[in-house]
Amino acid sequence: MDEKQLLKMLKRDIIAEVEVERAQNAPKLELINEKLQQEMLRKEVHTMRTKNEEMRQKLALQDRDLKPFIDMEKRKLLDKLDEIADENKCCLCALKFETGGSHRRVILKCGHIFGQNCICTYLKADKKCPVCDSLAYLCDPRVIITGEILYTPLSN
Ligand SMILES: [Zn+2]
Ligand SMILES: [Zn+2]
Repeated sequence: MDEKQLLKMLKRDIIAEVEVERAQNAPKLELINEKLQQEMLRKEVHTMRTKNEEMRQKLALQDRDLKPFIDMEKRKLLDKLDEIADENKCCLCALKFETGGSHRRVILKCGHIFGQNCICTYLKADKKCPVCDSLAYLCDPRVIITGEILYTPLSN
């Protein structure tokens, strides 16, 4: 056997040995790859969780910033409701107007509105508007029906 043939044999042996080793290590490599992938996924999940938490905190902060504004708007609306309720009340007796009957809405020449019986009683004693002191007579009040003023004297 010459040197060349010996080298060839040795080479073949080494290749065979490496292949056996590679085959033995294959499952280990697979396991390592799997572990690496799991670790990467774990990191990704962690990053996403952190981002979620940051967003949640930011939103909570925005809610807190908005609260005074919302409270202010709420107060404005409640004031407006009070105003509307006041407009529906007779300023002489503080009761709501009736749609018909003795406490229905009547208007004086000055534009001020009262319950019919209230202003009539008032004008019997004093010839002026209780709100603005304009001259007013018992025959002045006019009935208001669905926002329109009827220019007919009261029949009482
Ligand atoms: Zn009244
Ligand atoms: Zn008036």
